[in-house]
Amino acid sequence: MSRQMISRNLRQWMVYVPAAIAALGIFVFGLYSLNLDQQKLEARSRTSVVNSLNILRANLEGIISGNMQLVRGLVAIIALEPNLSQKRFAELAAQIFRDGKQLRNIAAAPDLVVRFVYPLAGNEKAVGLDYRLNDAQRKSALKVRDEGRLIIAGPVDLVQGGQGFIGRVPVFKGGRTNDPDAFWGLVSTVIDVDKLYQDGGLRDPQLTIEIAIRGADSTGANGRQFYGRPEIFSSEPVLANITLPYGSWQIAAIPKIGWPKHSENELWLYVVFVLAEILLVVPMIIIGNLLKERQTHITRLETTQRSAEKANKAKSEFLASMSHELRTPLNAVLGFAQLLQLDTKATLTKTQLDYIESIRTGGNHLLDLINDVLDLAKIEADQLEIDLKTVSACDISEECIAMTMHLGDANNIKIIDNINRDVAMEVRADPLRLKQVLLNLLSNAIKFNRINGTVCLDAHTTKDGFLNISITDTGIGIAPKDYERVFQKFQRVGADPMIAREGTGIGLTVTKLLIKSMSGRIGFNSKVDVGSTFWIEVPLAKT
Ligand code: ADP
Repeated sequence: MSRQMISRNLRQWMVYVPAAIAALGIFVFGLYSLNLDQQKLEARSRTSVVNSLNILRANLEGIISGNMQLVRGLVAIIALEPNLSQKRFAELAAQIFRDGKQLRNIAAAPDLVVRFVYPLAGNEKAVGLDYRLNDAQRKSALKVRDEGRLIIAGPVDLVQGGQGFIGRVPVFKGGRTNDPDAFWGLVSTVIDVDKLYQDGGLRDPQLTIEIAIRGADSTGANGRQFYGRPEIFSSEPVLANITLPYGSWQIAAIPKIGWPKHSENELWLYVVFVLAEILLVVPMIIIGNLLKERQTHITRLETTQRSAEKANKAKSEFLASMSHELRTPLNAVLGFAQLLQLDTKATLTKTQLDYIESIRTGGNHLLDLINDVLDLAKIEADQLEIDLKTVSACDISEECIAMTMHLGDANNIKIIDNINRDVAMEVRADPLRLKQVLLNLLSNAIKFNRINGTVCLDAHTTKDGFLNISITDTGIGIAPKDYERVFQKFQRVGADPMIAREGTGIGLTVTKLLIKSMSGRIGFNSKVDVGSTFWIEVPLAKT
């Protein structure tokens, strides 16, 4: 593919660039708007989850710390009364149970052996339990002793059924927490898991969020999950920490109905963007198509015109050289015919002389034709040389009148020279070509005249610096329907009688081209059976 073709193809596709940019723009804007809308929706949804989660977290923290506070009260009393009796313990525990609604039982283990339990009923088996000897509880119990602070463990399965969190508090006599010798034992309490969840609001049917909690034994984000579906932690949940007396739980929440996938405006946005694409881009594509089509036409036209011009020039060049070749022998024929006519010895008969006259008339006509064709071909092949100089149109017109005067003799046609000699007649023209023009117009005015007709020559200058010379005849005229064919090549207009007159149909074509090459103008007006006026205008010579 040539470079030119590539650039033409490229130019053709360029017409779609605005449409493509518009389409892309709308597409990008559409994506951006949808994304923005989605982000807004997600942000709204997250905010609402955060709000609900904060309430739950506050509830749970409140319940746990409230309960633990009550147990701490008991621990403070034991620290002061290390030798308390079962009865005294039961009294104190009963008070705690009045307020600690989520507590299931409470036990005290001096020297890590359970001695007191409240309520005793149903928990008898716990009495006498030595934490040091119990595999399940030894580690946690010793940790509480060693850490010297309250630790919430669990949830664990309870022997009595159900699940519970165990809050263990170390008791130091006289409250001397840092003194290992003052260690009295442990107070442990069981928080009912179901009650905690229920009272904390986790089971509220109105709840719009779904919850999961991890961090069993207060181990925070790394601990075992003990509440809710495990998938929640991998569903981009909102996370929060529930702070416990020692350690924490991590709570995760997502909307019960899941995160919103599609914005409610999405459909409308799609509709708007599709409409925008249709309303904006489709017309642009149509315009692009039209432009492309136009460009194709122009290119085709240019190519056709170029090849036509090339062919015409080649033809003209051929004609120019051919006409030249024809003229030389023809001139010889005419020359010898003339010689025969001039034969002073009168050896030729009258018939022979008539024949010679016919040879001369026909030959001259042929010469005229060849001359016209040669001129036309030269003009079309850009070979015509025009020699512009300041000339007297007056002299030239007089010369032309003299040369054509006799042509009208047969039909008694008179040439009237109305040119006012006072008019400035100096023009800028090629004298030979100007003469050719006037001769052609004069001979047409005589040729297409009627018997006893006249041909009038007039001249005047125009305001824009031209000399106008007009030739008016009283001949057959030209019908309006033929006006536009008058200056066309090989066009002989009108009816049969005209065709009978000598001529080639290229005289006016050549005339017009000659006038044009001298920067002049030509025109006519005519009326059938009244006559025609042909005029030319040539630039006045600058004075
Ligand atoms: P030709 O005279 O050789 O036929 P032209 O090109 O000079 O060719 O003229 C073209 C045609 O215009 C003529 O054949 C004729 O029909 C018409 N025409 C030209 N001059 C006149 C005129 N003065 N009156 C009427 N018809 C004219």
